[in-house]
Amino acid sequence: MTVLTVDRLSKSFPIKSGLLQRETGRVRAVQDVSFSIAHGETLALVGESGCGKTTVARCILRALPPTSGAIHFSPQPGTTIDLAPLSRKSLRPLRRHIQMIFQDPYASLNPRMMVGDIIAEPLLVAGVPATQRLARVRELLELVGLPPAARTRFPHAFSGGQRQRIGIARALALDPTLVVADEPVSALDVSVQAQIINLLLELQDRLGLSMLFVAHDLGVVRHVSDRVAVMYVGRIVEVAPTTSLYGRPRHPYTEALLAAVPKADPTLRDGAVVPRGEVADPANPPPGCAFHPRCPHAVDRCRVELPALREVAPGNFSACHRAEELRLAGVV
Ligand code: SF4
Repeated sequence: MTVLTVDRLSKSFPIKSGLLQRETGRVRAVQDVSFSIAHGETLALVGESGCGKTTVARCILRALPPTSGAIHFSPQPGTTIDLAPLSRKSLRPLRRHIQMIFQDPYASLNPRMMVGDIIAEPLLVAGVPATQRLARVRELLELVGLPPAARTRFPHAFSGGQRQRIGIARALALDPTLVVADEPVSALDVSVQAQIINLLLELQDRLGLSMLFVAHDLGVVRHVSDRVAVMYVGRIVEVAPTTSLYGRPRHPYTEALLAAVPKADPTLRDGAVVPRGEVADPANPPPGCAFHPRCPHAVDRCRVELPALREVAPGNFSACHRAEELRLAGVV
């Protein structure tokens, strides 16, 4: 069963200047992004800062209204709703089904609330009675590996990793259909990152979570995702099953991201070319393939023709003229 289908999602922001703040242009933060997430699947959305991945996540959560496109969400089997055009009022009953794990476990928890109240807050809003709330909070603390006594303490008494566990418990309180995790380990020490990744893996197994996992580097998502979508300047440039993408990337930008992953893991590919230059400006992207000024394989066609996202091997999609030419030549 498909839980989420994002169809040609675009989001642009006005650029305003002058005394009267007139609109002088638009930043196309997200352009024609499409993907789906199946029940129990984790899709990682990866790219450098400013590539649009967080904007996609915020559109799905409807913290931002999309400029165009559809966000088909199935809160339960047999029901599919397009979230894109919904008003705040119509979205309200659906919010319990999509929950978020935030990047910063220090900023995302109210320091004046006890942990038990933080975790119980979504239950309270949903009208769950007090006795059931208490039982659920105890269950959730156990689920994320925190002691029952954590309930009556304040967030400052906990380490970064423990706070992220509290954030995860809160996100799971209402048993959501989809969890959106926005860089959930990037603010943590490397050793703590591994603990949180292991916890997420355990929860995937126990609860069959469906998750969109947003991250800026491929090192983090390898063990937690079933598939990976790579974004560059507002567009998805590659989507593939995780093992396939790490073993044989089919877009030069993915190769570059993999080259940037520390090589503690010897099974990762080595020798990929790190791209030269800066990430393109989404307010003024280069014509053709936006990656061409940095791509070691760029040819004339790349400078004028936008490559479409095409299936270049079973289940592997790449927006690259070279990948398509290799496919046509039978090199898959
Ligand atoms: Fe490089 Fe051309 Fe492929 Fe873009 S389309 S990634 S410039 S080879």
